[in-house]
Amino acid sequence: MPSGVQAEIKTYQMFIDGEWVRSKTNKTFPVYDPSTEEVIAQVPDANAEDVNRAVAAARAAFDEGPWGTSTAQERGRVLFRLAEKVRQNVALLAELECRNTGKPIVEAEFDINDVATCFEYYGGLATKVVGYVNPVPDNAMSLSLKEPVGVAGQIIPWNYPLLMGAWKLAPALAAGCTCVLKPAEQTPLTALEMAKWFDEVGLPKGVVNVITGFGESCGSPLVKHPDVDKIAFTGSAAVGKIIVKEAADTVKRVTLELGGKSPNIFFADADFEAAIDGALFGVFINQGEVCSAGSRILVQNSIYKKFVEAMTEKAKKIKLGPPLDRETKMGALVSKEQYERVLGYLDIGKKEAKVASGGGRAEKFAKGYYVQPTIFYDVDNSARIAREEIFGPVAAVIPFDDEKDALKIANDSPYGLAAAVWTRDIFKAMRTVKSLRAGIVWVNHMQPTYVEAPWGGYKQSGFGRELGPWGIEEYLETKQVYINLNEAPIGWY
Ligand code: NAP
Ligand code: MG
Repeated sequence: MPSGVQAEIKTYQMFIDGEWVRSKTNKTFPVYDPSTEEVIAQVPDANAEDVNRAVAAARAAFDEGPWGTSTAQERGRVLFRLAEKVRQNVALLAELECRNTGKPIVEAEFDINDVATCFEYYGGLATKVVGYVNPVPDNAMSLSLKEPVGVAGQIIPWNYPLLMGAWKLAPALAAGCTCVLKPAEQTPLTALEMAKWFDEVGLPKGVVNVITGFGESCGSPLVKHPDVDKIAFTGSAAVGKIIVKEAADTVKRVTLELGGKSPNIFFADADFEAAIDGALFGVFINQGEVCSAGSRILVQNSIYKKFVEAMTEKAKKIKLGPPLDRETKMGALVSKEQYERVLGYLDIGKKEAKVASGGGRAEKFAKGYYVQPTIFYDVDNSARIAREEIFGPVAAVIPFDDEKDALKIANDSPYGLAAAVWTRDIFKAMRTVKSLRAGIVWVNHMQPTYVEAPWGGYKQSGFGRELGPWGIEEYLETKQVYINLNEAPIGWY
């Protein structure tokens, strides 16, 4: 498209009870392309009334609809068909995700393929949920049965929009739950696109509802709704804390994935080239908008100076560009709000530490929320840029003396989502792994994530685990059944 020409603005409806609907108020809100700052779509602005409608549909689909009585085999097949649809449409979904988030197209393609993989994994796992015979001492049989939790409210962020949706929908559906999914206000488009295939792949009406709206007017009523059995949330710690409080009145099951300030630890004996690469990849992938970003880079004193220099040199060469350009390694931040937040942290960082590279907007772009990959060094772990989640391309490099010092700094954080350690010494690596208070620890890499392996945090990074068998467990209740095998009366009275 020639520059200056406004792309078509598409108006979406949302998906409730198997139908495309407007919000009750008829209000919509704009969705942007953060690399051009242009509006690319309008979506319904759902409020509590729309939430009621979606929850009622999910409740009925669970209590009365065919989903509640479906077999695991049937649910598995639906998930495989959905995965297939996603695979056939990787190009379409990746382009939409790319335009809406500002992330590089190559990364968006990885994300969408991962979406399909997630549906495939849980399609397979649906038939592997098994009960248990409890070895009780009496003439009785005691069983543990697994049953779906019921209606799941799922609230997701904007950094991996459809993938976060898949991480929540796939295990819930495999378990037999019904869902109300609320994407982030910034990035609802791929979830709405995917909803177009729900009927075709065999999801009965009401089983998955996708509602678009804002946190307070749409997310919060979902959290408080008495007919919702469980809330699964990924996002900021600040909102996570509100959700726990609001879910308390109805004693909902809650799982939280709340990001962090993850340490990426480099010992002097690490492979130097691999280490530099790993430090940059750990913190700058997806513009740094990653909950597990290795945003605290801990480097052993004996290699510290050389490390900062090498990292800086390489960071300056990272190719920022339009998200749809296949050569682009870093695109735009997701929104004006996030861009301003990150720039605010750059100002804070300049007062707290020294700047090795970046430090501001990438000025070569006339428009768009582009921020230079920024490296602060000589950062003290007590600095705000070392304690608060920035969620942008901002690294805080912190020196350390020895193993003990590294672990003390690494664990000195309110968060505990992820960590990584780089060394050639297997004993040192394993000692470090054992001492780190984090839900995910990588050795000599950072960020690989697999649907087969658990994901989730310690401390204020949340609770509960997604992915793997752990992910489906969060959507299951355990029912204990006792079967008396004595034909005689109890004989107590
Ligand atoms: P957020 O405010 O935590 O939003 C996450 C989701 O929660 C969105 O769908 C949001 O809706 C919804 N929400 C907001 N307030 C709510 C409420 N009171 N009740 C129920 N739902 C509510 O995150 P954000 O605004 O997108 O980003 C802010 C910061 O969160 C980031 O800078 C980053 O630090 C962190 N974050 C972490 C992750 C992660 O993976 N851990 C992901 C994204 C962001 P709206 O879209 O309307 O706000
Ligand atoms: Mg928000």
